[in-house]
Amino acid sequence: PEITTRYEILGRVGSGSYADVYRARRLSDGLVVALKEIHDQQSAIREIEALRSLQGAPNVIDMLEYFYDDEFEEDAVVVLEFLPSDLEVVISDVKRRGGSITPGEAKRWMLQVLSGVNACHQAGVMHRDLKPSNLLISAEGVLKVADFGQSRVLQDLSFEGTTPYETNSEKEKASNQLTEADYLKELEFIREKSKLEDNASCLATCSTVDIDDDQLGSYTEEPAGAFTSCVGTRWYRAPELLYGSCSYGPEVDLWSLGCILAEMVSLVPLFPGVSDIDQIAKIITVLGNLNEQNFPGCSNLPDFNKISYSNVENPSGLEACLPNRPIEEVNIVKRLLCYDPANRVIASELLKDGYFIEEPLPVEIDQLIVPT
Ligand code: ADP
Repeated sequence: PEITTRYEILGRVGSGSYADVYRARRLSDGLVVALKEIHDQQSAIREIEALRSLQGAPNVIDMLEYFYDDEFEEDAVVVLEFLPSDLEVVISDVKRRGGSITPGEAKRWMLQVLSGVNACHQAGVMHRDLKPSNLLISAEGVLKVADFGQSRVLQDLSFEGTTPYETNSEKEKASNQLTEADYLKELEFIREKSKLEDNASCLATCSTVDIDDDQLGSYTEEPAGAFTSCVGTRWYRAPELLYGSCSYGPEVDLWSLGCILAEMVSLVPLFPGVSDIDQIAKIITVLGNLNEQNFPGCSNLPDFNKISYSNVENPSGLEACLPNRPIEEVNIVKRLLCYDPANRVIASELLKDGYFIEEPLPVEIDQLIVPT
């Protein structure tokens, strides 16, 4: 099927390292959608595989269909619901107005992010690149996790099994633009290719700790069962990734979540490192040195002994980064930003936390301010 016979391109809305995104109109019914043309084959497979397993989750972006099309030079094109805003825009808008996000508003945004991340983890998907600009928002204030180009579907689920979402039959039919068999064949191809990679290549490509974010796209090869630590955007990258771990889990997303929540309520990035070395320095200035006591096993991480940091006598603490915020809110962030991944509170647990049913209650979604 030729995309341009069914969609009218209205304009380009963005371009990232892996993809160009266009606003388009579906000719059959006028629905405005986002067409994401993904140039990198592995990112395309990742995005499609993740989104297929997440269809129906209310806080994950909807994929309407996807295809490979000659008109797009055989790049994969994923058709997504169009979402005009994102959390980065919300934060900068509040800042520009000299305002703040109230605890009740923060709770509603948090619940939505948590619901999206929980859906991912329940389905065995680790996102690996959570940041405010990847949390898209509809004009009505519905927040959805997007951009799964760096995600991985875990073979070995360490988080509470899968939740198969109800698949809407129209969507299911639409996804079959590329037949199931073609898709599986492609997936198998990528998996086989990955398996051929020596596990050591993970360590080799990631042994330098300073990675330019723009180069992340070149580290796409991952051996089966071992992951590259070169994922995500530096400011939101978990300590185990910064130290080169190849065997991390969905807890990396929980660290990112902690950084995102802190940024949302303080309106400034929590750990804005200018290099990976500076990133760790910024983290330990606030949370204290990382050691075998607070992160058992950290000294065995590939890059742990490559960098030594002086002793932080008086870490400033998260409270100092979140001035004038309720202690309960600070505590939520604290439970996510644990050095030991095993101690980070998981999304499903946080969703059930009493914090969200205490005063001030989360505001209604239609009370949220969405700049577009
Ligand atoms: P990349 O993987 O290259 O970072 P993204 O998915 O982040 O690509 O998209 C690039 C740009 O397109 C972003 O600025 C984002 O705001 C915009 N965008 C992506 N998906 C949508 C969507 N569904 N609706 C509206 N804009 C989108």
